[in-house]
Amino acid sequence: MKNYKKITLTEQEMPTQWYNIVADMPVKPLPPLNPVTKQPATKEDFIPIFAEELINQEFTHERFIEIPEQVQELYKIWRPTPLVRAYGLEKALDTPAKIYFKNESTSMAGSHKPNTAIPQAYYNYKQGIKHLTTETGGGQWGSALSFAARYFGIDLKVFMVKVSYNQKPYRKLMMNTWGADVIPSPSNLTKAGRRILLAHPQSPGSLGIAVSEAVEMAAKDPDTNYTIGSVLNHVLMHQTIIGEETIRQMEKAGEEPDIVIGCFGGGSNFAGIGFPFLRKKLTEGKNIRVIAVEPQSCPKLTRGEFQYDFGDTVGLTPLIPMYTLGHNFEPANIHAGGLRYHGAGAIVSQLLKDRLIEATDMPQLETFEAGILFARTEGIIPAPESTHAIAQAIREARQAQKEGKTKTILFNLSGHGMIDLYAYEQYFAGTLQNYSIPDSEINNSLKTLEKII
Ligand SMILES: *Cc1c(COP(=O)(O)O)cnc(C)c1O
Repeated sequence: MKNYKKITLTEQEMPTQWYNIVADMPVKPLPPLNPVTKQPATKEDFIPIFAEELINQEFTHERFIEIPEQVQELYKIWRPTPLVRAYGLEKALDTPAKIYFKNESTSMAGSHKPNTAIPQAYYNYKQGIKHLTTETGGGQWGSALSFAARYFGIDLKVFMVKVSYNQKPYRKLMMNTWGADVIPSPSNLTKAGRRILLAHPQSPGSLGIAVSEAVEMAAKDPDTNYTIGSVLNHVLMHQTIIGEETIRQMEKAGEEPDIVIGCFGGGSNFAGIGFPFLRKKLTEGKNIRVIAVEPQSCPKLTRGEFQYDFGDTVGLTPLIPMYTLGHNFEPANIHAGGLRYHGAGAIVSQLLKDRLIEATDMPQLETFEAGILFARTEGIIPAPESTHAIAQAIREARQAQKEGKTKTILFNLSGHGMIDLYAYEQYFAGTLQNYSIPDSEINNSLKTLEKII
């Protein structure tokens, strides 16, 4: 037997800073724009809905940001998370490649989302905010924030994409258990929701619509702020605790990855695992491929346009420079609910434009095949989102075998699938399919964008 399988860190070895990749980017991201004036947005534009410290983090070019002590303490409920050498998967693939995964499924919510839920709730609490709103797709972000908000004594309303609300009753119950109020979106509690329901009474909802509802509710009330689970710079930065830990763990194992892989919804877990390794590429000239994997049914990185677009469907958020399919794009109802978002974050988009990262898309059936092979060889049943990263790791391992090369492949296991077994049931029943989108549909959606760039 090999003498290591799981590489752990002690609490004392845990990183105490988040990494802000903007400091090291050769081309900085374009600024967000005020949605009305179309001028660069200022910090003041964000004040009605975000905690001030989070706004500062959104704009800063500081390289490292100190993690508040109280946040570090809460992280220790489940951090540091294990880095695991996937010997079982390697053996099944008969590959010369070494495969490692960072296991972010061990948190209370079962995903990487608490890494940012806790600091977001903390900074709002510090500012005396009493109510928070947010959206959730698959339900992972809503559940992560439900615990964090409750811990700091903040009341939370979660707008949950209606199709997920119906498909995932247990996610809703997790949020209720932690004390949050969960509302299927589109709802008639907001102008945005009512507008969508009027046009599409049967709308299954989308992340973009749910964002509109949560933002509208927060903007109306000075005691209420909004929080977001992905896309924005500060959220991506909080997730870098993942990669910072992994760098230390890889050092312990005496390894360095050639390839780093994350699944891609809005970019947070991808940034979390990828950005600290990109620092080695940007500042030390290390040759590391960092790959984002998106679903074939929502291919903003591989088939979208680099353009200013809204973060939500109705157009309430600042305009963000991003690879986007257009804010009205309605992705097919795939099971990786957390990846059904029309756009990408500004930093990731700029990195992709500058070819410092790669992107690829993955058909749904291949992701489930990969997820099941992983479950049967490594034991953990992965979230449908995470299976996208696994599928790409498998492609790379097969490529290494073809080329007869040893490569070190690292991917982020962003979450477990214990609350998503319904998706596996559908896969076993043979009712899942691939969704490839015709160019015409993407072009029609992109046509509605104002061409600011
Ligand atoms: C939310 C989520 C994702 C997608 O969001 P990103 O911001 O792109 O990371 C991926 N995996 C899991 C398990 C999630 O909960």
